[in-house]
Amino acid sequence: MFNYSPDIFIPQKISPSWSDNVSVDVLRTDLLHPVVSGNKWFKLKYYVEDALSKGFEKMVTFGGAFSNHIVASAFAAKQAGLRITGIIRGEPDMVDNSPTLQQAQEYGMHFHFVARNEYRDKELIKNKFNDFYIVNEGGYGKLGAKGAEEMLTGISHFEIYDYIIHAVGSGTTMAGIINAAHHHQKVIGVSVMKNNYSLESEMKNLINKASYIKKYELLHSYHFGGYAKKTDELINYMNSFYKETAIPTDFVYTGKTAFALKDLINNKVFKPYAKVLFIHTGGLQGNRSLPDGKLIFK
Ligand SMILES: *Cc1c(COP(=O)(O)O)cnc(C)c1O
Repeated sequence: MFNYSPDIFIPQKISPSWSDNVSVDVLRTDLLHPVVSGNKWFKLKYYVEDALSKGFEKMVTFGGAFSNHIVASAFAAKQAGLRITGIIRGEPDMVDNSPTLQQAQEYGMHFHFVARNEYRDKELIKNKFNDFYIVNEGGYGKLGAKGAEEMLTGISHFEIYDYIIHAVGSGTTMAGIINAAHHHQKVIGVSVMKNNYSLESEMKNLINKASYIKKYELLHSYHFGGYAKKTDELINYMNSFYKETAIPTDFVYTGKTAFALKDLINNKVFKPYAKVLFIHTGGLQGNRSLPDGKLIFK
């Protein structure tokens, strides 16, 4: 649908001071596009194909004012020649303070704002959009997982890795990664939400039966206060990670995951000489909501 460099499938080795006896490579899907997050693009691919093959002309999806999914959906719909409406949690004046919504609007997205309590009842909203192809919030679903799987299958030798670590929101990406993983590999998902214990069952709904026995673990202690919450410790860590690796991260997803990676290495969770693949899922556009000067990159 759009051309991106195949180089994103060549993992980059990093050697930060804390890597100890573990070897770490980073899959830079953040390099796919400056605004469209790596994993969001992969998750949307098959929904867009499905919408087109079923003859839909319009799509609708859901998200918050800083959502990577919203802006990626706007871009994907534009590429495919589909009209798209974003159901946004909040008020119309949020556009003024949201570079994400402004960008989505530039890509041609129409917005439909709903109050928080109304937003929760997605079925009611969906009824108003019955000739639209519906994409769940965050691209949750089997087609999303199928697309996410291709982040791994695009790597020429991904069987060399012992562990695969990445950020988790809805669990769609993790399901795709587990489906793609080999039996000797362990998939570690870092949940960026607080106490999201329904996540595991939602994620499992998207795993192929044959993958149930694969090794995976969801970590719930690296949320830094909850979804899109941050602390000075997190921001300082993102700066030091950048100094040591030249890789920018975002404060909602990949910064928390990079923090977890260091913590797991410090705690000797990985076996000696393990090969770890950190999937950088992108999301850097979200850093535009931070005040200037907090991050040494942007
Ligand atoms: C949405 C997102 C995730 C989480 O993906 P899920 O499939 O919802 O778990 C991870 N990283 C980034 C940068 C994202 O935008």
